[in-house]
Amino acid sequence: MQELTHWIDGAHVKGTSGRFADVFNPATGEVQARVPLASTAELDAAVASAAKAQPKWGATNPQRRARVLMEFVRLLNRDMDKLAEALSREHGKTIPDAKGDVQRGLEVVEFCIGAPQMLKGDFTDSAGPGIDMYSMRQPLGVAAGITPFNFPAMIPMWKLAPAIACGNAFILKPSERDPSVPLMLAELLKEAGLPDGILQVVNGDKEAVDAILDNPTVAAIGFVGSTPIAEYIYGRGCTNGKRVQCFGGAKNHMIIMPDADMDQAADALVGAGYGAAGERCMAISVAVPVGDGTADKLIEKLVPRIEKLKIAPYTGGNDVDYGPLVTAEAKRRVLGLVESGVEQGAKLVVDGRNFNLQGYEDGFFVGPHLFDHVTPDMEIYRQEIFGPVLCTVRAQTYEEALKLAMDHEYGNGTAIFTRDGDTARDFANRVNVGMIGINVPIPVPLAYHTFGGWKKSGFGDLNQHGPDAFRFYTRTKTVTSRWPSGLKEGGEFHFRAMD
Ligand code: NAD
Repeated sequence: MQELTHWIDGAHVKGTSGRFADVFNPATGEVQARVPLASTAELDAAVASAAKAQPKWGATNPQRRARVLMEFVRLLNRDMDKLAEALSREHGKTIPDAKGDVQRGLEVVEFCIGAPQMLKGDFTDSAGPGIDMYSMRQPLGVAAGITPFNFPAMIPMWKLAPAIACGNAFILKPSERDPSVPLMLAELLKEAGLPDGILQVVNGDKEAVDAILDNPTVAAIGFVGSTPIAEYIYGRGCTNGKRVQCFGGAKNHMIIMPDADMDQAADALVGAGYGAAGERCMAISVAVPVGDGTADKLIEKLVPRIEKLKIAPYTGGNDVDYGPLVTAEAKRRVLGLVESGVEQGAKLVVDGRNFNLQGYEDGFFVGPHLFDHVTPDMEIYRQEIFGPVLCTVRAQTYEEALKLAMDHEYGNGTAIFTRDGDTARDFANRVNVGMIGINVPIPVPLAYHTFGGWKKSGFGDLNQHGPDAFRFYTRTKTVTSRWPSGLKEGGEFHFRAMD
């Protein structure tokens, strides 16, 4: 069995804690590798050597740092197929989806190539008599990122690219469920010219995370994962005086107005609800048709589309719609929530509970589920399911639909499908959610905008990627300067001919 490593000072390093976690092939249920789980001492050593390497990198001009990222982009494109394959093998998502995972990370690296521009400070000439004022954006030193399993390429890149572009050293603690791609990213960055020690990949679980939270050298932490862990990391990290931003779970509502194109809405819902087996923080997990007539029409359009979905391993051809969940535990949890929905009185219109894939009986596949007549008190509505389960909550009016999205504790993304600009505009203005789609089901902002949810989906200030990332990974210093007159008046500057 393959034994994975950490990546320290530009090389693969074996774990020394003696603790490991299994990495599964979710399609077969087999353990395909084991990943070392770092001890506090291993994490502290990685931070110490990152801190040693950082001053030189921080003093390297931003254009040279950007060139490393430029080359990194080239290498990501060169190795796209290899990265996608490794990603699918551990995560279970389809190859096109895995390529999207790499691509959406790569685009943030591209944005970070603009570091020389993004890091320019402000300047005021003659803020007072003979006084100039200017600001500088300086690196924090050592920053850390703790990332989830569901985007093992994209989210590490959303963190490490801006942190490194700003001149920091970075400690990445990826998900222990799919750690291979983050290690491959580190190899590519070395090949691109990143000095050793500037990116350390420390694999691990709670012990490594707690060591990051308590290490006094770590100045900032970016976290993405479930909300209970986000709250924990935010609380402990802030108490320890660090700059912390944490992005948590979601329950994204899509409102379907009676005037929406029902075919478009149904197509959008199937992709956004079941793509990647629902394991996306921007998945639509709640459909809110407005009016019973709209609901009936929508369900009628959804059922045949859902029944046609092809669920198979990533090796099953180009027409696979989604693959297995990441672990057996995730499968148990999702099926348990489906049972609770049935027990609490929701109507299970498409029942995927008995889904079985011949030849892959031990894989973590879950069939698609569609619930109708879900109410806000049910567990399937309150909790993030993170599986191929779409809940329909019927609303009688637009205001009722808006209130549902607003009253839910999560506020990551939401969408409205309508042909009326006034309704769409009102929705975008009033809803208390961070990312809004208008006739777009998964409104993930591009690299040069920023990504972040509200309410229990985001803790701390500033979003991920875009200009916010350059603010998060730097500190502002403002200089007020006056140069008393002297030489200018008294000095002799002319090049005189000898008398
Ligand atoms: P998770 O919270 O289980 O794990 C995230 C990270 O935290 C991992 O690196 C893990 O090792 C670490 N961790 C887990 N338990 C810990 C503990 N007790 N103490 C300290 N660290 C711990 O999340 P996941 O299952 O990997 O990812 C899925 C979740 O991430 C979903 O809730 C999803 O909505 C969310 N997510 C959010 C966004 C966003 O931008 N808002 C993006 C992607 C995923």
